Amino acid sequence: MTVELKPTFKTKSGEPITIGAGSGTAWKAYKRNDPENAEIQNEIIDKLAYSINIGYNHLDTAEVYNTHPEIAKAVIKSQVPREKLWITTKYIAASPHISKKEGNPATFVKKALEELGTDYIDLLLIHHPFFDKSTSNITLEEAWQEIIDAKKAGHVRYIGVSNFAVEHLKRIIAVSEKEGKDYYPVVNQIEYHPYLQNQSENIVEFSKENGILIEAYGPLSPLFRIVDDDGKEIEDHPLKSVLPELAKKYNKTPAQVLLRYTLDKGILPITTSSKSERIKEALEIYDFKVSKDDVALIDEEGAKFPYRSFFKGRF
Ligand code: NDP
Repeated sequence: MTVELKPTFKTKSGEPITIGAGSGTAWKAYKRNDPENAEIQNEIIDKLAYSINIGYNHLDTAEVYNTHPEIAKAVIKSQVPREKLWITTKYIAASPHISKKEGNPATFVKKALEELGTDYIDLLLIHHPFFDKSTSNITLEEAWQEIIDAKKAGHVRYIGVSNFAVEHLKRIIAVSEKEGKDYYPVVNQIEYHPYLQNQSENIVEFSKENGILIEAYGPLSPLFRIVDDDGKEIEDHPLKSVLPELAKKYNKTPAQVLLRYTLDKGILPITTSSKSERIKEALEIYDFKVSKDDVALIDEEGAKFPYRSFFKGRF
């Protein structure tokens, strides 16, 4: 169960990382901090431990998901050594759309290490770039410098960003240039699927040109998340029939075709499910490839129906 991507990402023990097991959106509907929903914590722990035990070694979390404690417990429950795993988390800054308590990246890292029960984070991202001194008391450049400093201190192995457009990347790369080659962003985690092949103008190409791996969140959006402004499912869209046809051809499910398509584009998908069957299904994508022609077909059909689920109005 390995992924080979350029650049190739490996865990501390040198093993390649799998697609990511997310701990975000699938559980967002639940009010996790409500004691009446205490059982949801156990569900997340169980599902993440299950994910690790069937072969995922890549866990995606964030300050804003409130799932650090569940990740820590899932790792213990799985009995898989910490160094075999790849844990990503994300610092979030307050913005006009996201209220947040005080805290800069340095204080976040300290708290995250405690909550995650680990002495290092594999990958630390800035969750979004939509903040400045007036909203968060910190600029993008200052936040990035603190992320760099966390790496220098050995708390973090790799550093990167999420939801960054070219202009944001250029700003932090200017900071990295003063620090040396080890302090450039290595990942940009963005919404990516055939209906959103560039979250912002030219972002995929620019990231690739700068050695930044694109991670895709919401990779299954064309299958389950196409709704109108009232939240009503849109029945008719170009991939609606194409994906089931391809699934038949490859003897896979439509979700597996989409995840494999993402990998075949050199992009690393992060997916989530609260259902064991779907968690397993999402991992069974390393024994086939989507042909170049079919990747082109998905791209072409996808481009006919631009659709964005996250950070609407920000790009
Ligand atoms: P996906 O596109 O994989 O969507 C997962 C959702 O699809 C789940 O709610 C799941 O529901 C549903 N689903 C999966 N299979 C099926 C199926 N066969 N039929 C019906 N529904 C299905 O990814 P996410 O949007 O969840 O994103 C993945 C991860 O990326 C998140 O968990 C989070 O870690 C990260 N993320 C990062 C963001 C950022 O700003 N950096 C933003 C959003 C997400 P079910 O539980 O019922 O299976």
